[in-house]
Amino acid sequence: MSRFFSSKFDNLTPYTPGEQPKIKDLVKLNTNESPFPPSKKAIRYAAEAAKELQLYPDPTCQALTQKAAEIWGVEADEVLITNGSDEILNFAFMAYCDEKTPAVFPDITYGFYKVFAQLLNVPYEEIPLRDDFTIDTQDYINVGKTVFIANPNAPTGIPLSLSEIEEIVKSNPNNVVVVDEAYIDFGGESAVPLTKKYDNLLVTQTFSKSRSMAGARLGLGIGSKALIQDLNTIKYSTNPYNINKMTMAAGLGALEDEAYTKRNCKTICKNRTYTKKMLRKMDFETTDSTANFIFAKHKVLSGGMIYARLREKGILVRHFDGERIKDYNRITVGTKKEMQAFLRAVSEILEENK
Ligand code: PMP
Repeated sequence: MSRFFSSKFDNLTPYTPGEQPKIKDLVKLNTNESPFPPSKKAIRYAAEAAKELQLYPDPTCQALTQKAAEIWGVEADEVLITNGSDEILNFAFMAYCDEKTPAVFPDITYGFYKVFAQLLNVPYEEIPLRDDFTIDTQDYINVGKTVFIANPNAPTGIPLSLSEIEEIVKSNPNNVVVVDEAYIDFGGESAVPLTKKYDNLLVTQTFSKSRSMAGARLGLGIGSKALIQDLNTIKYSTNPYNINKMTMAAGLGALEDEAYTKRNCKTICKNRTYTKKMLRKMDFETTDSTANFIFAKHKVLSGGMIYARLREKGILVRHFDGERIKDYNRITVGTKKEMQAFLRAVSEILEENK
């Protein structure tokens, strides 16, 4: 750290992204990416857009916003396209949290919420999940703070039902409730239709997972026109050209090929069921994940050891050090072949430790 770094960041611990190692033949199941390439249409549109990189991109993201509105069944002025969903979450922290309005989120959830709160110096409260890692919705009823809930939650993959989400939103009419639906396309029930009914609900989604575009950085927020206006004010005060031309074009291509996305989600769900079944046969406990990952703990062996041995065998999963979850690993669901390689390696590790 230099001697010039502002003391306002004294309490900031930056987010640690999952590794992106360049190891040959690595089975990469650590950052919940899609194992499938982007839609061919997305690739073609991005390549065409590359020919015009001398020009700034459209700051209003008009064509993509219009198409997204159509797909999600809302109006164009109820949508804001961002640089990954991380950016809309950052905007929401900037717009809706301050000294008087702290943030609140579960103690075990997407690690970036805490980082945004620290970065922006806003107070935050972490509410413990129940012992079975479920969210007790009662904790969020009339809570009087800006609520951030990942649905399904990460890294557990456990969802709340739409009626539970509605209860939270309804009971906090004077606070914004942000529902982070990064993994919603793999089984959960989206709260987007509720944005018509509640002016305090902001739903965020991403192109990183189900649409195979993590490398492009594209996300979006859906909420009332007034919320989207607020978030636009933040956007135009930070980075008006937040979406580059190629990403914008690729996003449009992806949305014009929803059948491809749906097919891939279906395959991931099938592979998730298969992997979970096999893990349970090998004495693992798993949560009921509706995401593109499995959260699993062996009845005897430690999570850290399994993570390290898998890594030596060329299989990368994600391990977190948090006290309550240190015996778990989060395993991204990939292709059937990748899951078979993972399961083979797990079975070898169990054999070695008999
Ligand atoms: N929310 C959750 C719960 C996530 O796990 C992630 C991905 N790490 C994000 C948001 C952000 O994803 P992106 O910025 O790629 O859209």
